[in-house]
Amino acid sequence: MRQEAKSRRTGEQRFVTGNAGSQATAPRRAAREKVSGRKSAGKPRLPGKTGKGMPDADVLVIGGGAAGMMAAFSAAEAGARVILLEKNEKAGKKIYITGKGRCNFTNACDPEDFLSHVPCHASFLYSSIYGFDPAAVIAWFEEHGCRTKLERGNRAFPQSDHASDITKALEQAMRERGVQIRLRSEASRLILSGEQAETDRADIPLPGASGQCRERAAARADVQQTVRRTVTGVCLSDGTVLSARAVVIATGGLSYPTTGSTGDGYRFAEKAGHTVEPCSPSLVPLCCAEEDLFEMQGLSLKNVTLRIFNEKRKAWDGFGEMMFTHFGVTGPLVLTASADLSDCLRKGQLKAEIDLKPALPEEKLDERILRAFEQNPNKEIRNVAPEIYPQKMVPVLLRRCRIDPQKAVNSITKAERARLVRETKHFTFTITHPGSFREAVVTHGGIRVREIDPGTMESRKTAGLFFAGEVLDVDAHTGGYNLQIAWSTGRAAGLGAAAYAKSQSKETE
Ligand SMILES: Cc1cc2nc3c(=O)[nH]c(=O)nc-3n(C[C@H](O)[C@H](O)[C@H](O)COP(=O)(O)OP(=O)(O)OC[C@H]3O[C@@H](n4cnc5c(N)ncnc54)[C@H](O)[C@@H]3O)c2cc1C
Repeated sequence: MRQEAKSRRTGEQRFVTGNAGSQATAPRRAAREKVSGRKSAGKPRLPGKTGKGMPDADVLVIGGGAAGMMAAFSAAEAGARVILLEKNEKAGKKIYITGKGRCNFTNACDPEDFLSHVPCHASFLYSSIYGFDPAAVIAWFEEHGCRTKLERGNRAFPQSDHASDITKALEQAMRERGVQIRLRSEASRLILSGEQAETDRADIPLPGASGQCRERAAARADVQQTVRRTVTGVCLSDGTVLSARAVVIATGGLSYPTTGSTGDGYRFAEKAGHTVEPCSPSLVPLCCAEEDLFEMQGLSLKNVTLRIFNEKRKAWDGFGEMMFTHFGVTGPLVLTASADLSDCLRKGQLKAEIDLKPALPEEKLDERILRAFEQNPNKEIRNVAPEIYPQKMVPVLLRRCRIDPQKAVNSITKAERARLVRETKHFTFTITHPGSFREAVVTHGGIRVREIDPGTMESRKTAGLFFAGEVLDVDAHTGGYNLQIAWSTGRAAGLGAAAYAKSQSKETE
């Protein structure tokens, strides 16, 4: 039987420390349903002022990923009774595949440097990153039994190279703090109060409407001010209703949907009055038009410069490593470019070029090529070129330069050599579109950050509602930055939700 009912905020006598949340037993649920029918919400009511029972949890966290687990732990540590809902059979499913199974869980840089790796809305993260910075995150995992190590570029990993150690530390910490972890529990919607009251007063005309009366318009404004929409619980897909003083949405984005990140949080947020910025795949391989690129699939280029142009204007450049695939390009440089150019990529095709020898100006490169030719004057160019270029690239380069691969190097013309130099410095191709969410490391877009308090992660639209992690409209480069965002916003949301729940419990005492 479906047990959907509008749960109402109920009074509580004390704020329990580290206690597991009680389950919504059938009789209690029935009692709640009895006292909280939709009709009773008709009269505007301040949250927490009425009701006798105790909610199922002080803080209910939806989503057992990195952000949700950190939020649940932090709320419980602050003394809240916490329930964590995870729709999968295990928590942290995505964590297991991060960093190729090794989990690059943060980047040990200082917060200022950290924020330079967040392409948009970095300032929103200022408070939460300073509140729980990379050094604090590393210390947290060390304190909770996970030995850590640093690698090139300050990237932090568990010493064991096993992502499972990160999940284990979080699960153990939550258990020690009495978080009730409910697996295979899918939230289907938020339970909100306050809207009903506004709707019931909709007969009061808006200012400017014909036949208006000032006092009635003022009364309507009054109602809108006093009856702030409030979240009072969550309804699960099996019909179970759980009441809570505060709810944290940590449902992730849309990337790698097989891990459970299917965008449910966006739907919940919209119902709670939030704007969801358009979502697109980020940190994602890029699909290309030129078929000769696909011949080079598997080839990795190191120490190259990649430049990307938007209508002839340089939109991005970077130095590092990239790789060809059967549909285009990928690798660290490409993923970073995809994050920085998410908005341009959504709008259309972009031109790109690789400088294969960025350390050599054209003149020096020509000298280098000539030297190789002089050492092997009678050899065919296809056998000399691999001294300068990766073997897999040679047929493509020679074709693009219109040079017969069987031509002896001593008969290569100056014009042919000039074309080779040019192609080396400007190996061009067309980016048609980014890959799909199935292969994107993160989601660009999400819940508009202006509608959220950056210190506590509390909604400015609905009281008692908090957000954490990838569901927010923030994303960063590769290198441990995205998980750090999950830890920092998760911690801020957990502490914020616990403080809110505490204030509500005091109000009802
Ligand atoms: C292949 C890959 C490798 C990555 N490697 C790294 C890396 O090395 N370093 C790094 O910093 N970042 C990495 N990332 C990014 C990082 O994993 C994410 O940014 C981070 O996990 C986001 O955490 P989250 O908790 O916000 O969301 P998620 O990890 O997506 O967690 C959301 C959780 O909510 C649950 N959920 C969703 N809807 C509901 C619902 N209705 N009811 C109940 N539960 C629900 C989901 O099942 C899921 O468990 C990687 C990502 C991918 C895909």
